[in-house]
Amino acid sequence: MHPRYRQQIRALGGEEAQAKLRAAKVALVGVGATGSAIAQVLARAGVGTLRLIDRDLPELSNLQRQVLYDERDVEAGLPKAVAAASRLAQINAEVALEVEVADLAPDNAARLLGGVDLVLDGTDNFLTRLLVNDVCLSLGIPWVYVGVVGAEVHSFPVVPGSPPCFRCYLDAPPPPEAVATCDTAGVLGSAVLVAGGLAATEGLKLLVGAEPARGLFVLDTWYREAHRAELPPDPDCPACAGRYDYLGGQGQADTQLCGRDAVLLRAAAPIGDLGALGQRLAGVGELKTANAYLLRFDPPEPGYSLTVFADGRAIVHGTQEPSLARSLYARYVGA
Ligand SMILES: [Zn+2]
Repeated sequence: MHPRYRQQIRALGGEEAQAKLRAAKVALVGVGATGSAIAQVLARAGVGTLRLIDRDLPELSNLQRQVLYDERDVEAGLPKAVAAASRLAQINAEVALEVEVADLAPDNAARLLGGVDLVLDGTDNFLTRLLVNDVCLSLGIPWVYVGVVGAEVHSFPVVPGSPPCFRCYLDAPPPPEAVATCDTAGVLGSAVLVAGGLAATEGLKLLVGAEPARGLFVLDTWYREAHRAELPPDPDCPACAGRYDYLGGQGQADTQLCGRDAVLLRAAAPIGDLGALGQRLAGVGELKTANAYLLRFDPPEPGYSLTVFADGRAIVHGTQEPSLARSLYARYVGA
């Protein structure tokens, strides 16, 4: 018995289950709060390959709940997917790590999620989950939804060919005023760890071939209340019928970033030469960070900061107004 995984092999019921984990390839969409917790569990569990997909970089306000990062990562300014991979490699050198500094979008989703056995949800928004749902159903890959707001965790697994899927549960992202978000309700780091543990457990079950959970599980970690709601398949669900509207681009737009005074701008085109752009911007404002993945730049207008990624996306800090963010981007980076 592999000494490293001895306790786990007992809990999973045998060496065969461990061999399945070793052979498995898992994609994580987002290595922020829940994604950090999930990634750490799966790396320690000896999952063979982890693909880390993230569009962001660590900030001080992340450290309260994003357990893969520390103050050195905030200082270093490397993307989360890169920082996460280096931390996970220290935790378990047996795990193959694939890094994708990218924003999951309709035009790259099939490539980013293709070829894996399982997808786990580390996102913070419903639009991305609806896209993940479309891609996973279209490729026949199971995935596990998990979300945390405040101290409350919601989760259920989606298995292609076995409704309900995520769109049976939610046809479209709810209007911003209708739901509590991490902006309005905050999020507890302790609840994030519970959420990550729950989702990772469901993932391990799917990987070793155990019967997946049914129904929506809701757990209030503050009041210690839990219930499982029936989740009936929606007979009119487009995704279950093979119509993938979100993969076709429905709902995609520049978005406010939950919990932050910032807007994410979708990429118009990749930046051909990030170094040249950095040199140009250094003469205009203050270039704070520049590496192979991104640059961070404070324009002369006080209170704003732009993080520009090599794929052309940008995060504009200091505003929640997409039009203002877009105009700052156009002014300094290009239209
Ligand atoms: Zn469905």
